[in-house]
Amino acid sequence: MTQVLKNWIGGAWIPSASSATENVYNPATEEILALVPLSTKEDVDLAVQTAKEAFKAWSRTPVPRRSRVLFKYQQLLVDHWEELARLVTLENGKSYSEAYGEVQRGIECVEFAAGAPTLMMGKQLPDIASNLESGMYRYPVGVVAGITPFNFPMMVACWMFPLAIACGNTFVMKPSERTPLLANRLAELFQEAGLPEGVFNIVHGAHDVVNGILEHKDISAVSFVGSQPVAEYVYKTASNHGKRVQALAGAKNHSIVMPDADLDLTVKEIINAAFGSAGERCMACAVVVAVGEVGDILVSKLVEAANRITIGNGMEDGIFLGPVIRGSHKERTLKYIDIGEKEGALLLRDGRNDAAAEGTGYFVGPTIFDSVQCGMKIWEDEIFAPVLSIARVDTLEEAVELANRSEFANGACLFTQNGSHVRQFRETIDAGMLGVNLGVPAPMAFFPFSGWKKSFYGDLHANGTDGVEFYTRKKMITSRW
Ligand code: NAD
Repeated sequence: MTQVLKNWIGGAWIPSASSATENVYNPATEEILALVPLSTKEDVDLAVQTAKEAFKAWSRTPVPRRSRVLFKYQQLLVDHWEELARLVTLENGKSYSEAYGEVQRGIECVEFAAGAPTLMMGKQLPDIASNLESGMYRYPVGVVAGITPFNFPMMVACWMFPLAIACGNTFVMKPSERTPLLANRLAELFQEAGLPEGVFNIVHGAHDVVNGILEHKDISAVSFVGSQPVAEYVYKTASNHGKRVQALAGAKNHSIVMPDADLDLTVKEIINAAFGSAGERCMACAVVVAVGEVGDILVSKLVEAANRITIGNGMEDGIFLGPVIRGSHKERTLKYIDIGEKEGALLLRDGRNDAAAEGTGYFVGPTIFDSVQCGMKIWEDEIFAPVLSIARVDTLEEAVELANRSEFANGACLFTQNGSHVRQFRETIDAGMLGVNLGVPAPMAFFPFSGWKKSFYGDLHANGTDGVEFYTRKKMITSRW
């Protein structure tokens, strides 16, 4: 019988109050791996009350002691690195080497969080006036909730709970219902590291759990990562309920290629950024903007390289491109390929024709459109699949102008050997994460990370010192002695 997952509440596996479930698939084989419960608001409330109770002791646990649990957790994650990477590939479909790299990004978040004694420090000014001193102290905010997407089950979860917990908060996480398995393992290992019961909790499910979180009076802050419409909804609803919110949203990232770019490097980076993780990255390259005479040679090299991509089960050696997450997502992607053709874009490589796209598993081969214009649906919408659009312009100004017309502004890259191009790009492009001569400006645990415009709702970004600000509140004390 297929296993029904349970919620992790108070350091134990607790069945959901609901009997409704959804299938969790291996997207490479269509095999059902488990059933995820569609938990209820009552399940959320049980987790929140447990976290609220645990907050009393955890928030008062000396910071170096909290930090020691994070150090132990880091070691356990390193010890289980391969197991965790296999779980990511199993439920998400990305290649094992991509999954291995993702686990590294997650571990780095735990390493950053283990610096809590330094990160939590306040500030003092000994004389704001004669005999008057002032100081700022940092405290946790309370019960924090995290809602995650399917595409980085390890990394995105680790942007949230390790730092929040190191700062003294307790946590309720709602993992993506499409990739819930890894989260459970993260919880077990945290307990093994010595985390007290109730500090980290998981409630599995979909909309009802999200709404239960957004409306819950005992949750102080919500971190969300997912698609744009849901991010906007989460931001507005949670703010209306008096919570601080950071909601990281969708993307349509442009990579600009100048005529002086190192073409071999550029092609290698773009192929990885467009088709790695099946294009299901918020930092994926969705649009290449070829400037001037580089266009024709770049396009032919991209198609050549795309033809060499190995497609299949990410668990097997040598596979680069795994499946997309679900059959419904594959259907949606195929519709976009139809739309692109109808809009008049030039279909240079059709991923519907790859053998893997015909068989079992939710595979779509690498797809490349040329002559894509601003205003086409395939330029405008986040497809979130291995579909790359190429647009052609004459100057860097035009390239930046095109990218800036997108409603999204998560990341953008430039390929060039010219420093003044880099400066012009940096100063004029709308995007939160920039890359120069690389395809994926990946988020790092120790720097703040987020996009601009419709790619982000909130003030304080994820990770780095912004993360510390988000998960703490400040108290000022002015004293006369
Ligand atoms: P999604 O928005 O469908 O789901 C994200 C979370 O929201 C899930 O936990 C899901 O259960 C919940 N959810 C979905 N629909 C909901 C609804 N109507 N009401 C309430 N809750 C709902 O996103 P996804 O498909 O899992 O992930 C892909 C998206 O995430 C892409 O748009 C991608 O760009 C984005 N993403 C952004 C970043 C970033 O840093 N900006 C990082 C990773 C992924």
